Amino acid sequence: MNIFETVKSAIPVRQAAEYYGLQICKNNMTCCLFHPDKHPSMKLNDDYYYCFGCGATGDVIDLTAQLFDLGKFEAAKKLASDFGIDPDNPPAAAALAKPKHKIIHAFREDEQYCFRVLCDYLHLLESWQKLYAPHTPDEPLDDRFVEACQMKDYIEYLADILTVGDLELRVITTKELLKDGKITELEKRLDRLLDLSEEGEAA
Ligand SMILES: [Zn+2]
Repeated sequence: MNIFETVKSAIPVRQAAEYYGLQICKNNMTCCLFHPDKHPSMKLNDDYYYCFGCGATGDVIDLTAQLFDLGKFEAAKKLASDFGIDPDNPPAAAALAKPKHKIIHAFREDEQYCFRVLCDYLHLLESWQKLYAPHTPDEPLDDRFVEACQMKDYIEYLADILTVGDLELRVITTKELLKDGKITELEKRLDRLLDLSEEGEAA
């Protein structure tokens, strides 16, 4: 096997994307690297990625090449080195290249956690806004519909910051979300709501 085949068979696209600091939603979607993308429209499969927005597609090497402005061969060498695939070879200069998106490891876990909860909440709000919309102007408004209308834009804005904001803003926003257990409370509430809706479906 040559280095291209070795790297491709050893490293799933999603794993590389995560390792290099991309924000990934629960459904393996992330913001496209090939067109300006505010909402995640690129799907990360094991062997390839595909953007529903611009049609960009490729493998783990293409993704890495795009992320770090490298040629394919350099990207493959970087992957091999970063993932310890060929420990006998010394890391190439490319392996030492700084990512475009700087990564602070301690902070990244927190940020990904916040992003995951925000994504879940956003999905819930989107479904509430459709499910509980009033059918006539006289109908009293459902609390869930009201909450969706009030919160959706704001939550979307926070999720956007964590996806495309500059590092400083992302750090501040993550800190703010973690403060006083704000995001943990939200996660607990989402869990409860999910349990409720599953009970409802079962009944
Ligand atoms: Zn795209």
